[in-house]
Amino acid sequence: APAFTPVHRSFAEQAGRRPDRALFELPDGRKITYRETADTVARIAARLVADGVTPGDRVAMQVDKSPEAIALYLATLRIGGVFLPLNTAYTGAEMEYFIGDARPRVLVCSPERQADHAHRAGPDLVVETLGTKGDGTLLESEARHDEAVDAAADDPAAILYTSGTTGRSKGAVLTHGNLASNCAALLEAWQFTDRDRLIHALPIFHVHGLFVAANMVLASGASMYYLPKFDADTVVDLLPRATVLMGVPTFYTRLVKHERLTPQACASMRLFVSGSAPLLASDHAAFEARTGHAILERYGMTETGMNTTNPYEGGPRKPGTVGEPLPGTEIRVVDAESGEPLPDGEVGSIEVRGPNVFSGYWQMPEKTAAEFRADGFFITGDLGRVDEDGYLCIVGRGKDLVISGGYNIYPKEIEELLDAHPAVLESAVIGVPHPDFGETVVAVVVPAGGQEPTEAELLRSVAGDLARFKHPRAVRIVDALPRNVMGKVQKAELRKRYQDLFAGPDTLG
Ligand code: ATP
Ligand code: MG
Repeated sequence: APAFTPVHRSFAEQAGRRPDRALFELPDGRKITYRETADTVARIAARLVADGVTPGDRVAMQVDKSPEAIALYLATLRIGGVFLPLNTAYTGAEMEYFIGDARPRVLVCSPERQADHAHRAGPDLVVETLGTKGDGTLLESEARHDEAVDAAADDPAAILYTSGTTGRSKGAVLTHGNLASNCAALLEAWQFTDRDRLIHALPIFHVHGLFVAANMVLASGASMYYLPKFDADTVVDLLPRATVLMGVPTFYTRLVKHERLTPQACASMRLFVSGSAPLLASDHAAFEARTGHAILERYGMTETGMNTTNPYEGGPRKPGTVGEPLPGTEIRVVDAESGEPLPDGEVGSIEVRGPNVFSGYWQMPEKTAAEFRADGFFITGDLGRVDEDGYLCIVGRGKDLVISGGYNIYPKEIEELLDAHPAVLESAVIGVPHPDFGETVVAVVVPAGGQEPTEAELLRSVAGDLARFKHPRAVRIVDALPRNVMGKVQKAELRKRYQDLFAGPDTLG
């Protein structure tokens, strides 16, 4: 078998090698070392074993971001448990679904939520609490558990629910091999080492914050400035002491407007990364003008971790692209129906194969089977093309494709034209039901600061560059696009909002 070190073992090795190094630096100045974290991992592991967790059992967590939450993750992996982090925004009814679906052995919630979950406790489920100040029942006992199970590469390590952008969230089962191989490929691609100091301002219930950002730190012996959430002032203050920022596009939208963002402030920084959603070309350009740094854009998803990255060195970082496959990962663009490979430049279904690709959706064998080709490629649901340099460009999601009068329309093409208009900050193009065409195009536009573009003016500005069937039939001006915590535009919500725009007989336009 190929050499394989699960992430919790890499962490333990780093803790042995550099026990006094600060793993976490918190906004209040507190530092938590590798040794202290290793001790917390050992105590939590003992508690989970006492709670009856055996290999394969799920350990669910819905707590605010804290260093102990990372220790809980590592402790779960150490004893062979399957880690299941849940969005802190989920309400009682949503939690009902996730707990019913995943049937965890232990549910760890914040002390404030204990009353909401106490009724779930029973012979099959233990409810524990974990606060942000090292408090909670999970840390009550002093017993330690230091042995780690011998995890195989294809043993499950985590179930991560997808963001629910296109439908109900699905539980992606990720293996120890998925996490470890993706982490190793990233460390190599971005030359990330123990000398790095990462600004970590992402949530930890999502692939980006946990399996990309945190894993890289834990496995390399680096340090992280660990923020409860993104805040532009705090991040700008930390830049002079940090080396890497991993963020979502909205981080950069806010940073480029910050008055203290200067090349001097970024003197120690070597890498700014963006992923989870498309980066605005205008932010890419403005950020480079302000700091001298070209943001590195990359592409990943819950089911596959990271797929592609723009180069760290040895090639240009191209705005509007997500770069090339990570070492060990294969990407292809094929005809969605036939599965036949397409020539470079043509838009088709993006598919991925490699050690990073998950083992399947939790308890959805049919859905899993439907998303894999016979040769092992996973159908991402994203549409894209490969450009003349071999870089992947994401054109959108298959589910966002608009089909009007039999023609395929890629919203991104229209969004780019609208975004280029000086009075537009950003836009989202959707398809809504239309009695004649099946669907028709609606543009939702956020004006740039202080500007008041009219519908007619915006339509005129794009009409010249678009075939008639692609012309938006309506433009709606809004203050902001609906986004989730990762900065993804919620197009399903926009479609719902405007679904009746052309429904009535007298609104035909
Ligand atoms: P669901 O699968 O539940 O509908 P989701 O796809 O948004 O939700 P995630 O796994 O969090 O859930 O997100 C992965 C998706 O995010 C990718 O499939 C892709 O559509 C999008 N994405 C990620 N990175 C980028 C990027 N750099 N540019 C454009 N889109 C991106
Ligand atoms: Mg998805």
